[in-house]
Amino acid sequence: MLHTNKRLIDLYFQSDSCVRCGRCTTVCPTYRVTRREPMIARGRIWLARQFVEGRMGLSSTLKLYNDSCLGCQACRAVCPPKIKVDELAAEVKQTIQGRLGHTLEDKMILKACSHPQSFRYLVGTLDMSRRMGTTRLLPKKLRQKFRIFPQPPPSTFMDWLKLQKTRDTAGRLKIGYFPGCLTNSIFPGIGMAVLEVLKRQGIQVVAPPAVLCCGQPHRAAGELTESRRFAVATMNFFLGQGVDFVVTSCPACGYSLREYATDFRDDPIWRERAERFADKCRDIIEYLVDDAGLSVGPEALPGITVTYHDSCHLNRHLGITAQPRALLVALPGARYAEMPRADWCCGAAGSYSFKHPDIALKILAQKTEDAMSIRPHVVAAGCPSCLMQLGYGSRIFDGNFDVRHPVELLAATFDHTWNRW
Ligand code: SF4
Ligand code: SF4
Repeated sequence: MLHTNKRLIDLYFQSDSCVRCGRCTTVCPTYRVTRREPMIARGRIWLARQFVEGRMGLSSTLKLYNDSCLGCQACRAVCPPKIKVDELAAEVKQTIQGRLGHTLEDKMILKACSHPQSFRYLVGTLDMSRRMGTTRLLPKKLRQKFRIFPQPPPSTFMDWLKLQKTRDTAGRLKIGYFPGCLTNSIFPGIGMAVLEVLKRQGIQVVAPPAVLCCGQPHRAAGELTESRRFAVATMNFFLGQGVDFVVTSCPACGYSLREYATDFRDDPIWRERAERFADKCRDIIEYLVDDAGLSVGPEALPGITVTYHDSCHLNRHLGITAQPRALLVALPGARYAEMPRADWCCGAAGSYSFKHPDIALKILAQKTEDAMSIRPHVVAAGCPSCLMQLGYGSRIFDGNFDVRHPVELLAATFDHTWNRW
């Protein structure tokens, strides 16, 4: 045994219980599109064990198969000993990064996340370059990666919010809203819809003056000092505002905010604050259905067929599956239809579709086909990263469907002139 990383060693011993039953072959999206043994949990376990035991060095094969795990956790649900393959692969990846350093691509992603406003400039520059036709000068691989980004909206959520005058009015509850970088830059309509539905309930909503990073990309990359710096800034802002709840419309951010309790569990100064903060965190759909009691507006959305894609973070990390469906079924005038394999990963997986565009595209092709089988007008998902991926699928595979966060559809039932969706 060559490694001293305790977490990696613990996961290594847990993986000892793999009975090689092959059940993971039935649910793994990377296996579904490649049909290769190292692309399932069983194969990844074998590779990780070879690496930990020092039988396999740092090879491109190890990196390819290990890093292409989506972290979707689908295998855990069917695995008899419930092996945490996603966490094992993530620890192996971090160990490799610790030795080789971050790739240029990872550095760029971390840099963009450290300054979430810069994400907006990146998307804007890409769009301008597309319109001027200069993207064709980029290498093919890079062009392929950038194709996922849709046309950016005219303004960011934060720019729009600064123009609103009513956000500080008193309400029966005070709720903090954490928008996240994708909502801010690509899907500001989601943030507007969150404010709209909370306002309809007489709730005072506060949001930070500039978009904050939840710290997840840095935590996943092993940059714990940086991720804690973001956590402290986020907790300081919302706890300082005395909010009753903190809601998110991005489940990756939502999961990350709840993880602060784990991040600071050994910190005598921050532990109590982090636990108190994590207790207040809710996904917006969870809050609207479980805490507030679902309230739907009177405006009908006639003739619309809606289906739903389960984001892995919302479904498997946060356990939220029934609430979004309850919301969609309750939309007046709309028809809800369940798509096949709704809980299969769409290939977005944070920055996965950017780092592994070939595999992500194959996974997306199957997801789009599943969605199109029920001919929806709208595919709803509670995650901006999934929405970006599904929207890309609709564009390139002629899906002819729109993509929306459930809260956007709910906002439309309160105001038929609501045209931000
Ligand atoms: S389902 Fe679990 S126990 Fe069975 S082969 Fe896959 S990882 Fe091993
Ligand atoms: S976490 Fe997802 S991608 Fe990774 S091995 Fe399990 S099912 Fe496959």
